Amino acid sequence: MFVSDCLSVNEKGHLAIGGVDTVDLAKEYGTPCYVMDEDRIRKNCRAYVKSIEDNYGGNGLAIYASKAFNCKYMCKLINEEGMGLDVVSGGELYTAIQAGFPTEKVYFHGNNKTLDELKFAVENGVGRIVVDNIYELENLSRIAGECGKTASVLLRIKPGIDAHTHSFIMTGQIDSKFGFALETGEAMDGIKRAIAAENIDFRGVHCHIGSQIFEVTPFEKAAEVMIGFMAQIKAETGVECAELDLGGGFGIKYSFEDNPLEYSAYMAKVATVIKAECEKQGIKLPFIVIEPGRSIAGSAGITLYTVGAVKTIPDIRTYVSIDGGMGDNPRYILYQSTYELVCANKADKPRDFTITLAGRCCESGDLIQEDAPVQRVEPGDIMAVLSTGAYNYSMSSNYNRIPKPPVVMVSGGETKVVVKRETYDDVIRNDM
Ligand SMILES: *Cc1c(COP(=O)(O)O)cnc(C)c1O
Repeated sequence: MFVSDCLSVNEKGHLAIGGVDTVDLAKEYGTPCYVMDEDRIRKNCRAYVKSIEDNYGGNGLAIYASKAFNCKYMCKLINEEGMGLDVVSGGELYTAIQAGFPTEKVYFHGNNKTLDELKFAVENGVGRIVVDNIYELENLSRIAGECGKTASVLLRIKPGIDAHTHSFIMTGQIDSKFGFALETGEAMDGIKRAIAAENIDFRGVHCHIGSQIFEVTPFEKAAEVMIGFMAQIKAETGVECAELDLGGGFGIKYSFEDNPLEYSAYMAKVATVIKAECEKQGIKLPFIVIEPGRSIAGSAGITLYTVGAVKTIPDIRTYVSIDGGMGDNPRYILYQSTYELVCANKADKPRDFTITLAGRCCESGDLIQEDAPVQRVEPGDIMAVLSTGAYNYSMSSNYNRIPKPPVVMVSGGETKVVVKRETYDDVIRNDM
């Protein structure tokens, strides 16, 4: 009925998440409000963990790309599910440390980690630093030496695969700000320097080919290219890569046209390719890392708003304004992302009304969806925007000095606030 299976319509005709009435949630916690189904998040985690056990003898680790949605509670949950954590900034790492996340299971990504961030990571025993470039490698080598430590690293490689939503193309030269290019020899040069560098323990290679990908073929192709490269590394340096990190990017359902893979099917297919290629190339099976972000948190979340003004411009469109917008969900203004809309208190009614859902910020582009079907809404209704669990809270801002909404987790019919609503005092906290 909806894009996400944690949603249903209850006996009052209201939208429910994890069995909890969203109209009651809006009353209790106010709007706007992010709500996430914790049980759904845990199920998603388990599917990935199990897929590595079932298809690859457990010789790997699923790490959650926490940029999708990070807070202390989420870090604790991910640790409880036996996953590792991917962080891309000192702030994400700090959150993980404060949540008691075991730092040896943290992978630190990013194309321009600052010197302070590298030091912070080394001092705190971060498990792997995924090195993006030579400048970073040199700095890391020096910083690790200064701290009297050895940094374990993977190198981020651009495998030359451009993964689009429904197809992929091999490109001669990929244009991306991330990582070392394979085809120019830059990657091999980086690997040789990493092997030779002091205070650096070279563990293997990483790639991440994109996001919101629905096909398994680009992932299979990436695995093939990376294993070919690992064989080349062995041939040229004598060093066997112990680890292969294949990144994330598994798509989720935002609209009914989206057809995501079963996450377990992904691993089944890719593991087959890995085994065949390693055998062919005569190298030992690497420890495999995968990095799902969106597919852990995205479909588990919704955002609840209260409808304010409804403006019909005859023969043009109807603008329905809500008490949130680009501050809590910048994805539409950034990428014209698709979302499903449901009027939470009229969820059993047909969606036979076409609206443009407008945010409250002072930007004409501050929209959440254009020309989208929804029930006949009026001021005071509760509007739910679905599949907002990933890249919404984590991308939110205080534009127009609007406090950020809270995050409420639903589990087994119980609810708890895991991120408090910001107050006006939070907004002026750093003002002098
Ligand atoms: C963003 C990112 C991910 C997660 O991507 P999703 O599309 O959310 O699964 C994983 N690895 C790296 C390096 C990333 O930058």
